[in-house]
Amino acid sequence: DRIITSGMKSEDVDIESSLRPKSLDDYLGQEKTKEKLKIFIEAAKNRGEQLDHVLLYGPPGLGKTTLSTIISNEMGVNIRITSGPAIERAGDLAAILTNLNENDVLFIDEIHRINRSVEEVLYPAMEDFCLDIIIGKGPSARSIRLDLTKFTLIGATTRAGMLTSPLRDRFGVICKLDLYNVDELASIVKRSAGILGCDIDERAAIEIGKRSRGTPRIANRLLKRVRDYAQVKGNGMITEEITNLALEMLEIDSLGLDYVDKKLMMDIIQKFSGGPVGLDTLAASIGEDRNTIEDVYEPYLIQLGFIDRKPRGRVATVNAYKHFNIPYEK
Ligand code: ADP
Repeated sequence: DRIITSGMKSEDVDIESSLRPKSLDDYLGQEKTKEKLKIFIEAAKNRGEQLDHVLLYGPPGLGKTTLSTIISNEMGVNIRITSGPAIERAGDLAAILTNLNENDVLFIDEIHRINRSVEEVLYPAMEDFCLDIIIGKGPSARSIRLDLTKFTLIGATTRAGMLTSPLRDRFGVICKLDLYNVDELASIVKRSAGILGCDIDERAAIEIGKRSRGTPRIANRLLKRVRDYAQVKGNGMITEEITNLALEMLEIDSLGLDYVDKKLMMDIIQKFSGGPVGLDTLAASIGEDRNTIEDVYEPYLIQLGFIDRKPRGRVATVNAYKHFNIPYEK
């Protein structure tokens, strides 16, 4: 129940849809990705064709679902949202595909978790916009091809490397979403505060940005908590002082780290003498799954320059020792 988890929490549900930007201009940051998409979208629209299939990858909460909705808005088509684990059988996918309209977007979140038999249906669907269906059984079984309307598949995943290469190769556009910087997060916080109708000053927005681990979803969640605090303990105005007090109460430190990050860093520093320590050993030590460490905790700790990835494992850097007030000996 970490408040700074980058995955979706039930408390996010009520505000996420209202805070979701609807156009590329409202989508702050990710300049490289936006520039690329703008060109491809305009070109596809001019030709009156569907957009090429797009793969979006990066840690949770960076705006992959949001961007897909924006792409469908900009293209002027419908979007159908589903996820890899939700499509259990090949027939489920066939049903979704045959219900799409011309040039629609199909968004598959966690596309790396799609099962093999479903993935095989995707190949001809993505490449030739058709389905190969087997009818009958045994010697009389035969395969028929069914044409589909053209569509755009947008796949989202935390790491592009988790996709099989035949699947990855079928995406024409591949975009990596990066963690946001503090200024971008502060702008997102100000935009969200405007939508939620709360007053916030510049320094408070920056302070929330600093503690959001590069992740808009966390920025919005912290804003919501700070707003509550400002209403109850102050006069509703979100100032830097109120923000600091609220985040202190939530036990989120000046860089957005909480007890789990602290345990992870402390284990590397104290139990494993600063490293290198292998990912599996570290996972067992803090009682977490290795993929969660790699996809969720580590990107931010690496961005902060607290962890180095070495061939023999993870190493704590001098910055980490400084932050946690531990003397550094080489
Ligand atoms: P993902 O699909 O990568 O897990 P989402 O698209 O669900 O992330 O984004 C989480 C929330 O963060 C959204 O509700 C949205 O309000 C906010 N958000 C994400 N990216 C941006 C952005 N670039 N600008 C403004 N808000 C954003």
